Amino acid sequence: MIIQGGRIVDPAQALDEVFDLRVSGGRIAEIGKHLERAQDEPIFDARNCYVAPGFIDMHVHLREPGAPEKETIQTGTAAALAGGFTAVACMPNTVPALDTPELIHEVRSVAASAGNARVYPVGALTIGRAGARSVDFAALLAAGAIAFSDDGSATRSARVLWDAAMKARDLPGRFISHCEDSDLKGDSVMTLGAVSRELEASGAPAVCEDLVAARDLLIAMECVKTWHLAHVSTANSVDLVRWAKSRSAPRLISCEVTPHHLLFSDELVAARGARAKVNPPLRDQSDVSALVAAVREGTIDAFASDHAPHTTAEKSGSLEEGAVGFSGLEIAVGAYALAVPSLSVSRYVALLSTNPAALLGIAGGTLATGNVADITIFADREWTVDVGRFRSKGTCTPFEGMKLPRKAVATLVDGRLTLCDDDRAENRR
Ligand SMILES: [Zn+2]
Repeated sequence: MIIQGGRIVDPAQALDEVFDLRVSGGRIAEIGKHLERAQDEPIFDARNCYVAPGFIDMHVHLREPGAPEKETIQTGTAAALAGGFTAVACMPNTVPALDTPELIHEVRSVAASAGNARVYPVGALTIGRAGARSVDFAALLAAGAIAFSDDGSATRSARVLWDAAMKARDLPGRFISHCEDSDLKGDSVMTLGAVSRELEASGAPAVCEDLVAARDLLIAMECVKTWHLAHVSTANSVDLVRWAKSRSAPRLISCEVTPHHLLFSDELVAARGARAKVNPPLRDQSDVSALVAAVREGTIDAFASDHAPHTTAEKSGSLEEGAVGFSGLEIAVGAYALAVPSLSVSRYVALLSTNPAALLGIAGGTLATGNVADITIFADREWTVDVGRFRSKGTCTPFEGMKLPRKAVATLVDGRLTLCDDDRAENRR
């Protein structure tokens, strides 16, 4: 197939120019001006579109095994393709937690039969995510885990985390921290501040995150273990990451930010209640501004949606009772563009593809000839978020009804084309 006339944006090759791209046998075969069409070779008309290495969402909850009413690997990876993602890293806070080679194998095998986006499982860092004993890192890596995390909560004991880091320091597989001090957080439902006081809701101070971020960054630096902070949401966390990076080898320390933390403050909780409940919680406007600035200056390495689907019933009801988190895969591409409108397309692609591929040590992240043909085609086209069209089972998102300025048009995984929007067949010839 020839992808014709698109603006090819591949930061790994410092490429940003209108070219044709040929895909053959699941690989990137050729990039050039006006490639000649072989007989019956299919053409994808990519004029007015960007053609980028496939987007990778490095923080997704697929809910399988354990909660098929919220999401399955099948529906979650269909949502990924619809949103413009050719690969996702799935978090281990399933039931049971992904803490054995068998469970890692199982997730990969279900994902392979689903045949949608690629799935890279993140292994639990401790057995059962209970925070007491670390998993068998080498065995999980051999089974296909690409990183380790107790995401959903923080690993509570610094002792356990230190020992785990020393054990795993010479192995691949970044540690991914969910930074939150559970004692200080208590039973809070949002961030502590003017809004929580006004709502008379129980709020936890934002330093809940900063305390654990500081602890984990210090352990990472001392143990020289590759480490990633998930969903940073506070100005202090960003400052801590900036400090840690200034004292470490390149890529030892990394972090990601979600679309919702870049766009919404805790004011949204006053307006939407449980539908805006998420963890880490939406913060103060000054935190939001600090995150956007950190994307611009390059302290943030990756965009990651923290796609966390729940049933509609679970997201209804009071702020106290509502489930934590919401869907993100199908709004992310547009939401990041809205959040940081002045970001160059090249930096945008680096945050969604080049960097996540490098941090996780997985295939993709470039359109270099010979590489696997995982491609995201997207366009600066305004659209309105309609949750009725979601492939995800989770249809709660604070972006519902919003107009977003950028949209995924098509994805190719292993050279296999999927249109992101069933109505839009106009690019196919
Ligand atoms: Zn988390």
